[in-house]
Formats: sequence, C-alpha cells, structure tokens
Amino acid sequence: MEFRSAILVHFLLISLALNVGTLFRNYCNPNLFFPKSSNKNHSFSIQTCNASTSLSSSSNVFDRILHLDYGDPTMFEKYWQNVADKTTLTIPGSQSMSYFSDSRDFYWFLEPEFEKSVIRLHKLVGNAITDNRYLVVGTGSTQLFQAALYAIASPESLTPVDVVAAAPFYSGYPATADFVKSGLHKWAGDATSYTNDQTKYIEVITSPNNPDGFLREAVVKPKNCRRTLVHDLAYYWPQYTPITSPADHDIMLFTVSKCTGHAGTRIGWAIVKDRTIASKMVEFVTISTIGVSKESQLRAKLILDAVASSHEQVSAAPPFFEHSYELMAARWKQLRDVIQNSKLFKLPDYLPQKCKFSGHTFAPQPAFAWLKCEGEIDDCKAFLESHKILTRGGNNFGVSNKYTRMGMISRDQEFCLLRERLYQIG
Ligand code: PMP
Repeated sequence: MEFRSAILVHFLLISLALNVGTLFRNYCNPNLFFPKSSNKNHSFSIQTCNASTSLSSSSNVFDRILHLDYGDPTMFEKYWQNVADKTTLTIPGSQSMSYFSDSRDFYWFLEPEFEKSVIRLHKLVGNAITDNRYLVVGTGSTQLFQAALYAIASPESLTPVDVVAAAPFYSGYPATADFVKSGLHKWAGDATSYTNDQTKYIEVITSPNNPDGFLREAVVKPKNCRRTLVHDLAYYWPQYTPITSPADHDIMLFTVSKCTGHAGTRIGWAIVKDRTIASKMVEFVTISTIGVSKESQLRAKLILDAVASSHEQVSAAPPFFEHSYELMAARWKQLRDVIQNSKLFKLPDYLPQKCKFSGHTFAPQPAFAWLKCEGEIDDCKAFLESHKILTRGGNNFGVSNKYTRMGMISRDQEFCLLRERLYQIG
C-alpha cells in the first residue's frame, strides 16, 4: 500500500512538473507567439528574388516604371490570399443599415466587436496600453489626425495653434494641418528649430518615423506654454521595429493600413487618455462623415482577429507578425547587400534592440528606405526618376533633396526589379 502511494505521489509530482513546464513554455517563451510547426508551409515561403530574377545584365530590367513613391502595403497580399478561407466576410443586405453601432452615447459609431479585437491585438503584442483609455475609430488614421488637431485647438483662441514635427517628418502632416485653413491650427514646420512663443502648440511624434524609421521622442522643450503631443504609431508593430515597451501616451494613432496591410479598408483608431479630447474627436468624425463605415470596421475586426489567432493557435498559416517580420528582414538584407557595394547611395544605420513580443534582437526594418545620394547627386529623387524609379524627395519631408524615400512594402516582383535596377545603376 505504502509502495502504491509512493508511486502515486511520484506520478503526481511528474505531472505537476510537466504542467508547470507547459505553462512556463506558453507564457514565457516567444515560441508561443511564433509557433514553429506552422512555419514551413510552402505557399507562405519568403521570396528572395533569386528564383525569378537575378543580379544580371538583362536588358528589360529598365523597361518598367517602378512606383515606390507611396507606401502601398501590397507586400502582404500573398499572406492574406493564403488565409482567404478564414478572412472572407459575407454581409447580408439587411445588416449594418443603421447609422448607429453602439448604444453607449459617446461611442455611437464604434462597432463594439471591432473595439474588442483592437484591444485583444494590443494586449497580445504589448505595444500600447489600452486599459482605462477611450478608443475612437476613424476613416484611416488620417481622419483621426485631423480629429486630434480639432480636439486640441481651442475654438475661442484668436490665433491658430501651431503644429510641428521634427524633420524629416511625414509628408502628410503639413497638408492635413493646413488643408481647410480652419483658423484653429496651422502647420509651423520643423520641431527642431521651433521657438515656441505661442501660448500653446502641438507636436506630432511619429515613432517609428516615416520616412527614416527611427524611434522618436518629443524634441521641443516647452517654455511657459502648454503643449500637446500626438503620437502617430502607425509603424509600431513587430515586423518593422522591436517592441520595447507598451506605448503610454495621451493620444496615440494606429491604422490597419500598416499593421496588416489593409490600407484600402480605411480604418484607423486612436487610443486617448482624456475623455474631453476623445469626445471632441468623436464630434469631429460625427460632423465630417457621420461616423465610420460599419462594413470596414467589421472587416478590420475579422482581419485583426485572424492576426491574433495566428499567434495564439497553431494552424496551417504562419503567425502573421513572424511571417511579415521575416519578409521585411529578407528585403532589408537584399537591399543592404546591393547598397553596400554602391558608391552612389547610403542607408541609415539602426541599432538592434530586443523585441519583447518576439524575443528577436533586431535592428529596425522600416516600411520605407530613406536613401541618401552620395557625391555630386543633389537631387536623389530626380536621379532615380531618370532610371524609372519613382520615389518621394526629401523636400516633401522638410529636408534636402539629397534624400529620398522609397517604399519597401510593394509586391515581390516590383521589389526584385528595384534591387536589380539599383545593382545596375551601381
Ligand atoms: N501616419 C503615418 C506616419 C503614415 O505613414 C500613414 C500612411 N502613409 C498614415 C498616418 C495614414 O494612415 P491611414 O492609411 O490610416 O490614413
């Protein structure tokens, strides 16, 4: 009897140890987020350019115009084609007809299911605090940027509030800040040379930054005035940059455009600490578009859930952020291989950091390459254009045309042609 209970205790201990081991593996090991077994599916293989194109002297390399002036995220299409069965949405004609989505007054156009999926994804990735925050959905983060400016600016003020960002800044900000000449806010240029003699200003911090990919903090030192920071975190996702801590700022903007590649869905969200600011942002969206497309929110919900599930469950599809991280890593390696042998171009150097989400230590691999033309070439954009590579010149970002921004998230064929062409140019 004693022997039998000793054996029983023994088995119990082994079973306990195994369970603790499993728990440890699940909660402390990045492999939970990147389950290994699912990663070798052939249809998800990473294109390295060598299969269909080579660094050769083939003459038709120069035939096609390469449109790399936009950050159109078509690189992710293949992944979503491969998981079409899980991400196809059918909406009956009778659904989503009402203007209203949510019975909570404040949130009347926010689809509650979309909100849940956004919070689920942020909690999984650990890139933003969502507890005790207000979530505002918008038609892309572009609309939410305008809504944030409207919410911060005071209608009673006699002069428009200055909006600044450190150069090189995202080329969309100046146009958006000045577009309707509202009298509420105006673009005031490069934050690094801004002398704030106004009573109030807004600094936009894009981190990682578009166009150059660096992680950023506010640069203006407030004197005797009130400042409000708007953090544009469109690229704070683990395929582009190590996630070092959950972002915890007053106003944070995100978008599916760069997170999953669904730019056409036109859905963004703001995570806001202050209720008054959030409700003024809601007011802006109400007045400008009477809410946000329900179909788009439902589609975004499905896509965000598919991303979260791809990490939480082992399935035939690889975890989305692991796959997209590898895609970006492969592209950046190939681009750097070409540029390092070039006397004409230079790329920024980034410091590697450990990503708390994936466990990988890596240097940023941004959605854009911020190219500097060396030597005599003063207009890098014009130089590349003469080789049928369309990029966006430095002057759009508040710096010299020695720099130009080149999209890194286009389709494989376009990227491979780019690499081939840069190699030919030298
Ligand atoms: N912010 C940044 C930094 C961006 O690069 C972009 C897209 N180019 C946006 C905002 C706009 O995103 P959306 O498509 O959600 O309007």
